[in-house]
Amino acid sequence: MIKAVIFDLDDTLYYELDYVKSGFRAVSRYICSKYGVSEKEFYKLQLDILEKEGRGKVFDLALENFSLPQDEVEKMLVVYRSHIPEEIRLYEDAEYILEKLKKEGKYKTGIITDGNSQVQWNKIKALALTDLVDEIIVTDDFGVDKRKPAPFAYLRLLEVFKIKAGEAVYIGDNPTKDFIGARELGLKTIRVMREQGMHIEKRMEAAFEADLKVNSLRNLEELLQFIDIIQA
Ligand SMILES: [Mg+2]
Repeated sequence: MIKAVIFDLDDTLYYELDYVKSGFRAVSRYICSKYGVSEKEFYKLQLDILEKEGRGKVFDLALENFSLPQDEVEKMLVVYRSHIPEEIRLYEDAEYILEKLKKEGKYKTGIITDGNSQVQWNKIKALALTDLVDEIIVTDDFGVDKRKPAPFAYLRLLEVFKIKAGEAVYIGDNPTKDFIGARELGLKTIRVMREQGMHIEKRMEAAFEADLKVNSLRNLEELLQFIDIIQA
């Protein structure tokens, strides 16, 4: 019998690119105010680099492109990580189901998320998630070695909720790390495949994939009942 539902954060409960864009805007404001370059152009350049080169070198390449000093990268990172992301919103179905689960009180709810602690907590606050779920673990608060698929965070929530692994479901979007660790412990897993998201194209071998796949969280409760039936 499923007793707890644990969610991933990025691209599971909200669209992560909205956060990245919000961070790039903050960085552009900073660079513009210091060097007088066009805020709009610097913002657009960061997005173009992200699309072509991926995340790792956005700030370095943007500075290079505008012939600005490379030692700004560190400050840009501080601006990015500390900015308050006002533009991010929960996916409509995510908000619906979190509020419904909270109101009904039938399941314990939690979030396990990886990433820079300050960044993840800024997102959590902006999305008002502390009011919506019972427990939140940002794995970096305990060390980067505790990031998924490490068993640490799953085990900790099972202990807090006083339930067995088979009584919990983990819901995420990234098959490279969201499901393999959870499955090894015995949790049930659900992959959300939305129309957008950084990992929607990823296909992995069976051990890395979730037990079930959905396009939306709206009918999650029916799915949890279905899991109960097939397990019985
Ligand atoms: Mg994710």
